[in-house]
Amino acid sequence: MKYEVSFPEGMNGNPICECQKPQFTGIPCNHVLAVCCQRHLNPMNYVSPYYSVENYVNTWSGEFHGFGNVDNWPYDMGAPTIRPDTGKINKGRRKHKRIPNSMDDMEARNRPRSGVQPPEGSNRTRTSGLKL
Ligand SMILES: [Zn+2]
Repeated sequence: MKYEVSFPEGMNGNPICECQKPQFTGIPCNHVLAVCCQRHLNPMNYVSPYYSVENYVNTWSGEFHGFGNVDNWPYDMGAPTIRPDTGKINKGRRKHKRIPNSMDDMEARNRPRSGVQPPEGSNRTRTSGLKL
């Protein structure tokens, strides 16, 4: 597949390729590199100025203000203190809060029994475990 590469005037020196990678990334694609190699052009001249070291340094030259340690924060700023509610979280599996209805009974009847099934021909029946 062939891609057409052009170097329009007034586009900040950025080439345009039909693959659209240089337009999106600001970095010359393989097609632009091939044209540059064929015409003895320096491809570094077609990299977006966003990637220059000067712009990179300017981007991160500002001062960052962290939040600091929580213990050093002012205690009362007028907002109420909200603590996590640990009393309602119980250990173990969560229980369903909704009330079972007739649909649950139907699903329970159609659901295959879990666990080990007795072999066919066995006269073993399920017991409650209590012997009377
Ligand atoms: Zn391309």
